[in-house]
Amino acid sequence: MPPNTEKKKLVILGSGFAALSLVRNINLNAYEVSIVSPRNHFLFTPLLPSTTVGTIEFRSIIEPIRTARDELRYFQAKCVSISGDSKSVKCETLQDGKTFELTYDYLVIAVGAVNNTFGIPGVREHALFLKELQDARAIRVKIIDNFERASAPNLPDEERRRLLHFVVVGGGPTGVEFAAELNDFVREDLVKWYPALIPYTRITLLEAARQILGTFDSRLSEYATRLFQRQSIEVKPNSPVKELREKEIIMHDGSSVPYGLVVWSTGIGPTELTLSLDFRRSKSARVVTDEFLRVEGSADTYAAGDCATPVDVNYPATAQVAQQEGKYLARQFNRMAKGKPPYPFTYRDLGMLAYVGNRRALANLPNVKGKGFATFLFWRSAYLTRLVSIKNKVLVLFDWVKASVFGRDISSF
Ligand SMILES: Cc1cc2nc3c(=O)[nH]c(=O)nc-3n(C[C@H](O)[C@H](O)[C@H](O)COP(=O)(O)OP(=O)(O)OC[C@H]3O[C@@H](n4cnc5c(N)ncnc54)[C@H](O)[C@@H]3O)c2cc1C
Repeated sequence: MPPNTEKKKLVILGSGFAALSLVRNINLNAYEVSIVSPRNHFLFTPLLPSTTVGTIEFRSIIEPIRTARDELRYFQAKCVSISGDSKSVKCETLQDGKTFELTYDYLVIAVGAVNNTFGIPGVREHALFLKELQDARAIRVKIIDNFERASAPNLPDEERRRLLHFVVVGGGPTGVEFAAELNDFVREDLVKWYPALIPYTRITLLEAARQILGTFDSRLSEYATRLFQRQSIEVKPNSPVKELREKEIIMHDGSSVPYGLVVWSTGIGPTELTLSLDFRRSKSARVVTDEFLRVEGSADTYAAGDCATPVDVNYPATAQVAQQEGKYLARQFNRMAKGKPPYPFTYRDLGMLAYVGNRRALANLPNVKGKGFATFLFWRSAYLTRLVSIKNKVLVLFDWVKASVFGRDISSF
């Protein structure tokens, strides 16, 4: 689409929660919007753990970013530098690394974050992460591959036990939900197709802190721990990892834990781009903005979502913060186009939900703390309504029905 020179040029870096809610709410009569992101789709991460075992299929939780609005310009590239002086961003195409520049009147940085390994040796080489769709796919393949390898005749029992030891490092909501989904998969599906291997199968959740789900009410976190123990998921608090080797985890106390798969989920850190920028950063290395989400010291550069935080507050790195910020920015841009002054951003905490397995969930809402089967129904309906398109809603609903009627698929390819 040829650029429209009468409109103000708005460049958005990223195609995640902040970017999508901004794009969906901005007045396209006033702005010519260009999106730059290496990922050409939006990913609904809250349901990503369900895709690792096939409760939900991969394509059911993504939406191409080009389809968000009719008049968008999208470039599949990553931004590698920003020049405030020339009001331009330098980008590198995903396919061949060729560079190009885009100029802007306004820039929104919404590049999210990356997995944090805290510099622990071996993690990047040997662990799998759970952040993008390809991570979920790699985990799904690895689970099935390990079961197939463990089925081979003449394998020593010790090796079979190692292959089928699934370890999750990090007891936050993502680690907990993955452990829960995996356990459902083992108990409901794999038990039918690999009955002889079930006695060798173990799931362990390692958490460096005193308890799992540290951001939830302590009664909910204790409930999740008890539920996990009843379901034979071994929860090990106070268990920091020192090093990850190809087949064993070295713990801080010097002990060694053989494993077949490690999923690393210990939190997030800044992207390469965020680190390279010449802006002030918070303690957690997020770009510091003012209360209008404008990058400190800049009149035309804004930052939202996991990569940024307003000064003096450290909003949680969650989809709901990113979404609210994106929507807020769209409103501000729309007001600006009408010559109206901006008003500051305020965050409304809607609470947190987590699936803990066996059709049980937790709801840590501002006024209600819920748990159990009724909360599981609430969890499902909440996410179904928050999915971004009717197509996604129908597909996810269909996947849930399919998994409960026919079981989850165990093919690997
Ligand atoms: C498994 C999982 C489960 C989660 N569950 C929940 C939940 O239940 N509830 C909740 O509130 N939050 C949840 N989160 C957190 C939530 O996903 C994030 O807080 C949210 O995605 C942040 O939105 P964002 O727009 O800042 O970044 P993202 O959604 O991560 O998007 C960042 C975008 O920037 C792009 N990008 C990266 N580098 C560049 C670059 N150099 N140039 C251009 N583009 C770039 C990326 O490709 C991506 O499109 C979960 C996260 C994960 C991983």
